[in-house]
Amino acid sequence: MCGIVGIYDHEEASTLSYLCLYALQHRGQEAGGIVSWDGDKSFVEKGVGLISDVFADKDTMNRLPGKMAIGHNRYSTHGGSGKQNIQPFLFNFQNSSVSIAHNGNLINLKNTKKMLEDIGAIFQTTSDTEFIIHLFSHSEKDSFEEKMLDAFGSVQGAFSVVMMHDDKMIVARDKHGLRPLAMGKLDGSYVFVSETCALDLIGAEYVRDIKPGELLIIDQDGLRSFTIAEEDKKHCIFEYVYFSRPDSEIFGTSVDKIRRKFGKILALEKPVSNGDVVISVPDSSNTAAVGFSQRSEARFEIGLIRNHYVGRTFIYPSQAVRDFSVKLKFNTIKGVLEGRRVVIVDDSIVRGTTLKKLVRMIKKANPEEIHIRIASPPVKYPCYYGMDFPSEKELIANQKSLEEIREHLDVDSLEYLSVDGLLEATKMPEENFCTACFTKNYIEERKEEESL
Ligand code: SF4
Repeated sequence: MCGIVGIYDHEEASTLSYLCLYALQHRGQEAGGIVSWDGDKSFVEKGVGLISDVFADKDTMNRLPGKMAIGHNRYSTHGGSGKQNIQPFLFNFQNSSVSIAHNGNLINLKNTKKMLEDIGAIFQTTSDTEFIIHLFSHSEKDSFEEKMLDAFGSVQGAFSVVMMHDDKMIVARDKHGLRPLAMGKLDGSYVFVSETCALDLIGAEYVRDIKPGELLIIDQDGLRSFTIAEEDKKHCIFEYVYFSRPDSEIFGTSVDKIRRKFGKILALEKPVSNGDVVISVPDSSNTAAVGFSQRSEARFEIGLIRNHYVGRTFIYPSQAVRDFSVKLKFNTIKGVLEGRRVVIVDDSIVRGTTLKKLVRMIKKANPEEIHIRIASPPVKYPCYYGMDFPSEKELIANQKSLEEIREHLDVDSLEYLSVDGLLEATKMPEENFCTACFTKNYIEERKEEESL
């Protein structure tokens, strides 16, 4: 996950970055930060928590002057959640300042790390992102552009990146276009964001997506586009299942439209013939549940209410209240569920622990039957490209059969969307997508797990 933003040449670069990070908060809630450049120096502010917490003190924005800024929302995947790994990273290099914000995961870094350390690189974090900086600073190419192409061309895996090198902004996306990255314009200034919902918030106009394998350098000479590697599209299909906001357009299509289609196809593939009501697990499965109800007899109802205001510092009882973490987030509307045959549409099942607790809670409202429909196929394999799926052992669909999962959840029926149904909904060629967490068809061979 992670959300990134870059603002080039705008009087309010830091404030706009803050607003974009606010719109991208769903992509990472663990930590966040902004680096700005005032034409002479870089400034950095970052911390743990939601963006509104990190920048709660108004003076923080005053400490980020200048017309260029980049920002990052962190959801830790690679390298752990230590404070040293909060992005954007800021480094000094040959009397210049380099900062970087990265969404994605790089893979197969073990040999690269050895090579870099052998030539004197000293790593300051345990994050894969830092490799890009070292590869750039140690590149033996002549020009700035060639060094950048060399650095990005030397890494494998997923990267949507915004960087600043003094008064230059650099934007790059891996050749597979695994994670989204869009370009917009506001008052003549360039804006780069993970998802278009951030452009909408600041009133910027969408221009285009950064192409898979494209490197952009923006400076006083304007915007120049280079090719890191030939495009080989493999967009992460899970962005449509869960990560991205439904009001965003990613990979050229509206997330709402495709997520709704997942629900519609699921209703046709795995109908519940006698269902009374369809409910979602808010907010992530709202759209798929609406789609499901549009293709079934059962009507869509709000059966679960979500509390959006659970802070990070909430005090949990030790064991006193069973399923407390789920109760804190959700409650049932008993009148909607009591005596009804309820179809719960959820976007995915990873470990199955939350859904099990949710079912226990829903049962207290005395529904007649509970049927679960999942608007994606079973998640059976880990992701190497930026989604924090646990190991195979912790993925319930890897360890149990469909019937065993149904029994474990203690529901009347359980069905998933098929891989074909998932791909059909996108109306794009199958080979344009990564589906590895469902199919084990990994794009690149990942050498054994590395610890950096
Ligand atoms: S493995 Fe799954 S979550 Fe990871 S990039 Fe591929 S489709 Fe996305």
